[in-house]
Amino acid sequence: MIDEEDDEEILKKKRSLKSILKNLFLIGLIAIGVLFIYLGGPNQTTNLIIGFTFICIGTTIFQMKKSASDPIRQTLTILKCKSCGAIIVRNYEDGDFIFKSMGSCDKCNDSMEIHQIYSVKLKKAGKKDDKLEENKNKLTETIEV
Ligand SMILES: [Zn+2]
Repeated sequence: MIDEEDDEEILKKKRSLKSILKNLFLIGLIAIGVLFIYLGGPNQTTNLIIGFTFICIGTTIFQMKKSASDPIRQTLTILKCKSCGAIIVRNYEDGDFIFKSMGSCDKCNDSMEIHQIYSVKLKKAGKKDDKLEENKNKLTETIEV
């Protein structure tokens, strides 16, 4: 089963609208800062301080947003041998579906079929591979129990 696909689509739309609004707000903050520097009141130093404060807040939030990015989705396909129950976890490929026959088992050479299609969330892009391995291990453990 592929979990959460419909919800995910709706969430994505909501999220993108939110991020557009957020970006507009941040651009607004930076614009206010720039305006203060160029068109502020009679005291030039105060204008500079206020202007830079706005710009700093805007850019800081921008950077924070980037580091806390949306989780990356990873779809895994779990293959299971019909005879000996051996399990292979690999990345989902186009055309995968449950009960589809897929190659032969490494252990007993019997045919394998797709047992489950699994969708997981990965939090950080940099640790993608570690997380993927971790998820694979966890999944294999769960299935084998
Ligand atoms: Zn087998």
